[in-house]
Amino acid sequence: TSFSTYKLSEEIVRALDSLGYEQPTDVQAKVIPVALEKKDLVVKSHTGSGKTAAFGIPICEMVDWEENSPQALILSPTRELADQVKEDITNIGRLKRIKATALYGKQPFAKQKLELHQKTHVVVGTPGRVIDHITKGTLDIEKVRYLVIDEADEMLNKGFIEQVGAIIDELPKDRVTLLFSATLPKDVEGLCHRYMSSPVYIEM
Ligand code: AMP
Repeated sequence: TSFSTYKLSEEIVRALDSLGYEQPTDVQAKVIPVALEKKDLVVKSHTGSGKTAAFGIPICEMVDWEENSPQALILSPTRELADQVKEDITNIGRLKRIKATALYGKQPFAKQKLELHQKTHVVVGTPGRVIDHITKGTLDIEKVRYLVIDEADEMLNKGFIEQVGAIIDELPKDRVTLLFSATLPKDVEGLCHRYMSSPVYIEM
């Protein structure tokens, strides 16, 4: 299988080619076709499996370049992961000129505010800073149609689960939600039940 078997635009397939991604990893092969159908997904998979591109590819495909406010929100448990995901999204979406912004604490709020003021299609952030930006009105979430909760079990370990719930409560109801986690403890399952509609479960 190669990426050209999926319903992906030429710009995405060419970007994957230039990244040296010749064929989808197992998790990508399972996730990409379902995500492109805009179904909610719970994916049990580990770091190193290619999970970032598993959601990054369909998100870059579905994002509309013309729309100026953020259409995808990706929640990460750490700054390092947020930066990595931002970089991966930027690379996958390069030929579509997708703009991604990372938001996390210990970095000037004003700089992030300025960045959000420019065109941004995808926002990747840690829960606390994302809430700050929503509360202060510097992050417009009205157009968010895709939500990714990455490393949900790590969110739980870090005590971020309530903040994640508070963010989701503010988001438009008409959206696709994708949740990735290495394990599925009860509180993560709870999040799935509460905020997702009949999700497809994929276990790697
Ligand atoms: P992740 O699990 O998202 O942290 O990805 C692990 C590593 O695999 C990263 O360095 C990616 O750049 C790389 N990768 C992801 N998808 C592919 C692919 N289809 N082919 C080759 N490398 C990939």
